[in-house]
Amino acid sequence: MKDSPAPATLNPTPSPAAGIRDLFQNYVVPSYGRFDLVLDRGAGSHLWDVDGRRYLDLGGGIAVCSLGHAHPELAETLATQARRLLHVSNLYHHEPQGRLAEQIVTRIAPGKVFFANSGAESNEGLYKLARKFGHDEGRFEILTATNSFHGRTLASIAATGQDKVKKGFEPAVSGFRHIPFNDLDAARNALSPATVAILIEGVQGEGGLTPATVEYLLGLRRLCDENRMLLLMDGVQCGHFRTGRFQSFQRLLEGVPGAESFLPDALSTAKSLGGGFPIGAFWVRQKVHGVDLADLLGPGTHGTTFGGTPLACAVALKIFEIIDRDGLVDHVRSVGTWLTSELATLAATYPGVIRGIRGLGFMQGLELHPRDQIPGFAGSDRPASLQMVHQLQEAGLLTIPSGNQVVRLLPALNLPQDQLAEGLDSIRKVLQRIA
Ligand SMILES: *Cc1c(COP(=O)(O)O)cnc(C)c1O
Repeated sequence: MKDSPAPATLNPTPSPAAGIRDLFQNYVVPSYGRFDLVLDRGAGSHLWDVDGRRYLDLGGGIAVCSLGHAHPELAETLATQARRLLHVSNLYHHEPQGRLAEQIVTRIAPGKVFFANSGAESNEGLYKLARKFGHDEGRFEILTATNSFHGRTLASIAATGQDKVKKGFEPAVSGFRHIPFNDLDAARNALSPATVAILIEGVQGEGGLTPATVEYLLGLRRLCDENRMLLLMDGVQCGHFRTGRFQSFQRLLEGVPGAESFLPDALSTAKSLGGGFPIGAFWVRQKVHGVDLADLLGPGTHGTTFGGTPLACAVALKIFEIIDRDGLVDHVRSVGTWLTSELATLAATYPGVIRGIRGLGFMQGLELHPRDQIPGFAGSDRPASLQMVHQLQEAGLLTIPSGNQVVRLLPALNLPQDQLAEGLDSIRKVLQRIA
């Protein structure tokens, strides 16, 4: 890539990378399968490793870095707010939290917001909301989808519809059952007298970039209305403009007759909301089934020390301001459409490697064939997605595997189209080599 310094092997000074990896080896719990890469700094959608090698980041910290790395205005906002007021407890009011809640409510529908610090913690709030809602009738069960992902806490691994996150941590938190995604009949047939809510992602992220169908969204809404249940949505990955609208359901139902009034009853968000500063939240609808849902979690029912600090909220507010000011929603829509056509061309050119394209907006990817069917990958027993991500990384491009066969692109919402084109060139070169 242009502007890249010489490769590390030609650099006479010893690389600090090995020493840093040793620190991880010796002192960090090995719960992640990490790539060897040791990162040092970033700017926009570029990252540099400790040897000065430059990478184009199309993974965006797994859909977190909504404005790329080291955004000068976010850095300034953090510094200014830190000098003014960094943290106060939730025993008091402060302006940034109130303003941020207003921003979120205004962009969804009348309701209220609770602030947390991560996706899993935001989802935890949804589970508690549902249990409180059903409590006096003895209803507590939440249906979630197979291949879903809702986080790594005990309740969230119970909610997640993937065995690999549950294994070894039994007994599971009770009250969760899984139904096949996008299968309305299965949802209807799964209801029990204890069922109080259904939780889905608008676009499954970790499960391989599968959007909910229009029929599924509208059908689940009807099912919940008929059975006095809550429809909960996990927007942690697919929310915050990633699909080209604030929340995925707004994009998925755009222009669909009869869908104008569709709303979930509560929705979680995190990742892109803070652009890299940890913050999560859930929005809850004002009133549903005759209950003031937004006021259901009254004083003393739920809380967290760090949720919605002045610092976190100031950054999130600045991100909203920049997204609006710089027209990034239109940007994600138009560049996202272009990306879909480019990925389709790649899929048509390399049908022996690529099985199909997935997702929408700035949440797209390639579904690969199984490893043993791809000539360049058959020699290793690592999944095709991982081998592809690895080869792209060596070509200077960072992407994210999703399951065994999908390679995800979750770039910053302000990624310029010419940089994305550069990234697609790297993908094309790797495909050429392994086809
Ligand atoms: C990442 C993710 C979570 C968990 O968020 P954490 O911040 O890691 O706790 C939950 N749901 C979805 C859809 C996610 O992608």
